[in-house]
Amino acid sequence: MYMETGKKQILSLLEQVPDPEVPVLSVIDLGIVRDVILNNNEVEVIITPTYSGCPAMDVISMEIKMLLLEHGYKKVTVTSILSPAWTTDWMTDAGKEKLKAYGIAPPNPTRAVCDIGLFAEEEAVQCPHCGSYHTRLVSQFGSTACKALYQCNDCSEPFDYFKCH
Ligand SMILES: [Zn+2]
Repeated sequence: MYMETGKKQILSLLEQVPDPEVPVLSVIDLGIVRDVILNNNEVEVIITPTYSGCPAMDVISMEIKMLLLEHGYKKVTVTSILSPAWTTDWMTDAGKEKLKAYGIAPPNPTRAVCDIGLFAEEEAVQCPHCGSYHTRLVSQFGSTACKALYQCNDCSEPFDYFKCH
């Protein structure tokens, strides 16, 4: 009973930890927090990186540790688990909505697996500004390696597309 309450409290605290790449998204929105193990005042947070080699992960681990220590947990460890690999399906619907509101096209839910080769092919990516699917890939690398740059053919607005990994 106490354990459940504690775990819920930690999960709601983690909603304050932003993704450094897309600050409107929390680590909860991203779905990268896989589990929280609470043992008295010791916490282990299990996360699965969205992108292997994404330097954002170090920042996220640090932020999780600092936040929980601030809230009185005595020992906090953050463990990365690479398998099973994160997919965009783990993102919450709220997260996808926030991403769209932020001006980034949400990841295409039908594509659980992708690679650079597939990604290079034109796909129907929706413009977050006007909702048009009439868009084109400008650059495989947007403002960060985790995003690609697209431009809308209808409203001419450029936008980032959050790559599925
Ligand atoms: Zn548009």
